[in-house]
Amino acid sequence: MAEQLETLKRLQTLDSELFELRRQQDEKPRELEQVEADAAAQEARVKEADAKLKTVQLAQREKEVELQGKEGSVKKLQGQLFQVKTNKEYSAMQHEIEALKADNSLLEEAILKEFDAIEAAAKERQAQQRRLAEVQERLTQERQRIEGELSAIGEQVARLERQRQTLLPDVPPKALSLYERILRIREGIALVPLLNDACGGCHRRLPPQVINLVHLNTDLVTCEACNRILYFDATHSKL
Ligand SMILES: [Zn+2]
Repeated sequence: MAEQLETLKRLQTLDSELFELRRQQDEKPRELEQVEADAAAQEARVKEADAKLKTVQLAQREKEVELQGKEGSVKKLQGQLFQVKTNKEYSAMQHEIEALKADNSLLEEAILKEFDAIEAAAKERQAQQRRLAEVQERLTQERQRIEGELSAIGEQVARLERQRQTLLPDVPPKALSLYERILRIREGIALVPLLNDACGGCHRRLPPQVINLVHLNTDLVTCEACNRILYFDATHSKL
């Protein structure tokens, strides 16, 4: 019995370590979540800058088309200028030409401003893309770091599992299945010392007859509240 308990204690030490390592295996990939969110947000900013650039490019093209049309109108009117019969008609047409030319010079100015806007939008897009490249690089590095850490953890788990296997034949099957069942439901801790008259797992006070049974050490005794297997260890109790 004492030997069985000693083996269970060794198992519990390994299983506590294994439990923590498995928790890390589950948690590690979550460390990527923040960088992944940063990358997604930056991708959205690039798309936004891209759309803005396309909008200003389109606006500029529309103004150029408009300018070409009006320049065509000016030429057409200038051609017709020689066919008019009266001074009145002539000066009306000339007036129209001047008005169109004034419109066109405003358009030309607007087109120049659009060039500035395109340049600014292109620069902004480039800056956002550079930032995206940076965050993607960070994501790659983080992925590599986490992969490395996970593979080290995996090796450690395999090593502890092998050690665990060597201990199993020393535990009677019934005790082992009890221990492993508690291990699963009690987050990796199935075996706890008495803390004076309390359970070392859930800290509930135990009835004297349970304490006595633990001291008797003839059978495995479990806590009524949390079901963990109890043992006595002088370092955890003052007698
Ligand atoms: Zn308990």
